[in-house]
Amino acid sequence: MDGVSEIESKVAPPIARCAHCQGMLPLGLGDKTCTLCGAICRVTHERTLIDLREEKITCPKCSTIVIAGTEERPVDLICGSCQSPFRITPKIVKVEIGCPSCDRLLRLKPRPGTRNINCPACKSEFSVTF
Ligand SMILES: [Zn+2]
Ligand SMILES: [Zn+2]
Ligand SMILES: [Zn+2]
Repeated sequence: MDGVSEIESKVAPPIARCAHCQGMLPLGLGDKTCTLCGAICRVTHERTLIDLREEKITCPKCSTIVIAGTEERPVDLICGSCQSPFRITPKIVKVEIGCPSCDRLLRLKPRPGTRNINCPACKSEFSVTF
């Protein structure tokens, strides 16, 4: 599978919360198992589904616009014009959290649960819960 270009999707999935414990669910749409309480929650978000299906990707080889046509990510597509394969990878979602000590904005990948963060600016440690 060498040589397949990977393009990051521009469509960010919503951050959904568990209906039982209000914890953050794994990113994406469909049936998600809450990593905190084990409940299975269905994540639907019509706008995101439409955006994913209609997302326009520029072929890295010939610059033809290709429509994703599916909400699956990652997805392998073949350019209809030059036949080169490429892959759309899920968007890497980051959220901004302000350090409680120095107000510096940190960009973090949301992950379910609580974790400790070390502020790179003031070295103080604080915990973040998504
Ligand atoms: Zn839960
Ligand atoms: Zn192409
Ligand atoms: Zn800080």
